[in-house]
Amino acid sequence: VLRVRNVRKNFGDHTALDDVSLDVHEGEVVVVIGPSGSGKSTLVRCVHQLESIDGGAIYLDDELLGYERRGSRLRPLPERRVAAQRRRMSMVFQQFNLLPHMTVLRNVTEAPVRVHGRDRAEARAEALELLAQVGLSDRTGHYPRQLSGGQQQRVAIARAVATHPRITLFDEPTSALDPELVGEVLGVMRDLAANGMTMVVVTHEMAFAREVADRCVFMEAGRIVESGPPAELFGDPKTPRLRAFLARHN
Ligand code: ATP
Ligand code: MG
Repeated sequence: VLRVRNVRKNFGDHTALDDVSLDVHEGEVVVVIGPSGSGKSTLVRCVHQLESIDGGAIYLDDELLGYERRGSRLRPLPERRVAAQRRRMSMVFQQFNLLPHMTVLRNVTEAPVRVHGRDRAEARAEALELLAQVGLSDRTGHYPRQLSGGQQQRVAIARAVATHPRITLFDEPTSALDPELVGEVLGVMRDLAANGMTMVVVTHEMAFAREVADRCVFMEAGRIVESGPPAELFGDPKTPRLRAFLARHN
């Protein structure tokens, strides 16, 4: 589904991503871990085309993202076409970013109807189903401010998957939550994973990574230092850096 090839990203003279390559296959859950500032958010933001890249290439279903080839040159795509590529993915942020003046149900149906041109009644029926799946059937008429953080994030997840994305990117979806609300959000993500959703999840929740990830990626200083099945990464870390990181996070 997703191929990240030798991607480089600079902010001024700081290199945030340094030759990063990553494949995510259909139905796979890849969890990205690593210390603060290691480039985890930058990676998912580059995939979602929220940041341009300074080298390498990113492909979604074999389509080059953000650029078109002109002979041997790459030319940035017009924003309209980038937006069309972005619509095939979803992203869930640490801050839920729900639309405050819309009900829970409207938050979930808005993009499918307005952006993807789906039939409103159909989108509504599917949204109600999704909201039931995330345990919010009794909150569909509420406004975001009337919900707890965990409930808001579950709405944000329902909204993200309502557009049938090829891949869903999560950037620390539980980091802004009170500890007692983390479990309900991870539970929803675990269900989505079990249903075969293709996901990239940036998180500090090591238990979730161990249990749900098909593959785990450890980043440091803009590079992927280790990657593999979680049992391998957590059970037998190869680098002192990962060992030190895991010691701090267990
Ligand atoms: P955290 O765990 O704290 O969220 P992270 O791994 O997500 O960290 P990034 O946000 O990807 O880290 O940042 C990687 C590096 O790039 C950091 O050194 C950061 O300061 C820098 N950086 C990120 N965004 C920008 C920006 N818009 N402008 C300048 N520097 C940036
Ligand atoms: Mg981050």
